[in-house]
Amino acid sequence: MRKRIIAGNWKMHKTAEEAKQFTEEVLTKLPESEKVEAIVCPPALYLENLVEMAKDSNLSIAAQTMHEAKEGAFTGEVSPAMLVSIGVKHVVLGHSERREYYNETNESVNAKTKAAFENGLTPIVCVGETLEERESDATVKIVSDQVTKAFSDVSAENAKQAVIAYEPIWAIGTGKTATAEDANEVCGAIRNTVENLYGADVANAVRIQYGGSVNPKNIEELLSMEHIDGALVGGASLEPASFLQLVEAG
Ligand code: 13P
Repeated sequence: MRKRIIAGNWKMHKTAEEAKQFTEEVLTKLPESEKVEAIVCPPALYLENLVEMAKDSNLSIAAQTMHEAKEGAFTGEVSPAMLVSIGVKHVVLGHSERREYYNETNESVNAKTKAAFENGLTPIVCVGETLEERESDATVKIVSDQVTKAFSDVSAENAKQAVIAYEPIWAIGTGKTATAEDANEVCGAIRNTVENLYGADVANAVRIQYGGSVNPKNIEELLSMEHIDGALVGGASLEPASFLQLVEAG
């Protein structure tokens, strides 16, 4: 049985005070459930404080991105070792906004995925197609290719721990969710790709999230699908009440 994983990606939202208030409220109301892993991904600036606040709780705090190098002259960047040094355990990699605005490619996502594992971080590797790719029936090919490249030279033992987030780009922040059936079909294709790469054991263990306009109203149907093990949520994760509803649905 795969443990459900519900993650809120704040993207570039909230002041320090708002981040603290959100976390305080969520920590007092978070259900004590063993069956769902709840994660918040704040801007890097707040990671250390939030990790401290959330220690000894069911809430994990994850980074939204990281550089792949150990250290060096990379102004503005944060390394895997830095994240580990403040107690971060998960990192979102290859989000479509990183691919679109910061030139991340399948190759750099692969380098970051390997660096995450080398440092003991669990990556949440994001994949997804554009509207144009979907309309030309290229979704499964594009997404399988993204997964294959992201996991190039990653051992089966590491891959088994990974989380993959399927986020169709056209569904992000648009209010257009993929139908549960469509999302499940692509998540199933992702699991197939993992099976081809590593075998059934790894494919059955890998957790696959859906992301793209998930909200408290549509999450239950999405999670009822065979291959959808959780959600990566932007807008609807920003308010404590809504985030808590998403976690409760998990
Ligand atoms: P929305 O939930 O706002 O569509 O964002 C999805 C997303 O990109 C999460 O990483």
